[in-house]
Amino acid sequence: MERPNAWKTYDEKALKALEKTAAAYRRYLDDGKTERECVTETVEMAEKAGYKNLDDLIKAETALKAGDKVYVNCMGKAIMLFHLGKQPLVKGMNIVGSHIDSPRIDLKQNPFYEDSDFAYADTHYYGGVKKYQWVARALALHGVICKKDGSVVEIAIGEKDDDPVVGISDLLIHLSAEQMSKKASEVITGEGLDITIGGRPLKDEDKNAVMANILGILKEKYGIEEEDMLSAEIEAVPAGPSREYGLDRSMILGYGHDDRVCAYASLEALFDLPEVPEYTCCCLLADKEEIGSVGATGMRAHYFENAYAEIMNLTGDYSELKLRRGLAACRMLSCDVSAGYDPLYASAFEKKNAAFLGRGVCYNKFTGSRGKSGSNDANPEFIARLRKIMDDNSICWQTAELGKVDVGGGGTIAYICALYGMEVIDSGVPVLSMHAPLEIISKADLYEAVKAYKAFMLNA
Ligand code: MN
Ligand code: MN
Repeated sequence: MERPNAWKTYDEKALKALEKTAAAYRRYLDDGKTERECVTETVEMAEKAGYKNLDDLIKAETALKAGDKVYVNCMGKAIMLFHLGKQPLVKGMNIVGSHIDSPRIDLKQNPFYEDSDFAYADTHYYGGVKKYQWVARALALHGVICKKDGSVVEIAIGEKDDDPVVGISDLLIHLSAEQMSKKASEVITGEGLDITIGGRPLKDEDKNAVMANILGILKEKYGIEEEDMLSAEIEAVPAGPSREYGLDRSMILGYGHDDRVCAYASLEALFDLPEVPEYTCCCLLADKEEIGSVGATGMRAHYFENAYAEIMNLTGDYSELKLRRGLAACRMLSCDVSAGYDPLYASAFEKKNAAFLGRGVCYNKFTGSRGKSGSNDANPEFIARLRKIMDDNSICWQTAELGKVDVGGGGTIAYICALYGMEVIDSGVPVLSMHAPLEIISKADLYEAVKAYKAFMLNA
């Protein structure tokens, strides 16, 4: 049951469309290095496509009808878009849901200190990272500093060509005999991930003169006091844009494919729907997936069902019972990346149940670890319907599981949405070097994901 390589199926027209999608995705990825930046970008795209903010519609008590487009901004860190269909909401929605947070290095609340004529920012990493991958590379600082007067300073330092970058130093190989004998998980510790942010002391300052200089720069350029860091959210991420990868330019190397590649693919698919789809279609971009979907912007919060209720209400068709029936009737693709088969690490995979780069969008019946623990195990009845939708629409797709049995595992937002009783399956783009500072995808899989998500929203 080997699946064909998507590249072999493309004619000139398809290749042109593929490159257009790849270029647009790279812009989304390069401009969205944090969940907040992705929401900002998505709001812009949504408003351009005719989507209205649900808060405004609720205030104005605007009645909603088929064809209307609505978005919900959850604290600037998660976002949902709804395109209302002909069928009433009690019949459920077709949902494509992904996440826009990615592994990274967050600054602590009291981050700054000075040592040996360097100024540092102390950090606490976010999500599953191999810490040794984050040293000796250019990092950019993105985020917000919220001040007591209610104002918010946004920063993105390290992306423009003439911006400075920051980074975490590594020990020189010449003195690394002891370090090199350690386990990879111990080579760099969590507390060792301190970011160098300065090295020039103020002339007429005796104590902490380098830090004093840095604080002066922060004050002058951004109007920030050190105390303001107490209410800041600053994320250190790999600096610089994504790149075409491979001499044949078939792949994209970049930070945050997990899971912005599925987020972007689902957005492009949503914006390409006809004026009035049969069922209401929803594109859901969640935060906090990488740390367990917790918190007010994580998928475990109730924003999806709350928005469902509000929209039902504005269509004049709300009741608690109808809401519950609607939630249970939904069909969903939990759009998240999967592990791409890597011949250099073949022993981690079981080849006939692995996802291959270039062979299209990938369906994972289950995720989890140690005997599927923690997994949403999708129903075969639902998978059979998906097979038909994919094949009827000439989409290259494959099935996979995340590596060999008992080698490891992972999770997505699928099991959370399944709590409502809806049909859910994981569906995404295979990635190499997942969770590394720079990850790799195939342009073909991105292109097939866009087509798959559109076909799903129109036909599920
Ligand atoms: Mn993910
Ligand atoms: Mn992940």
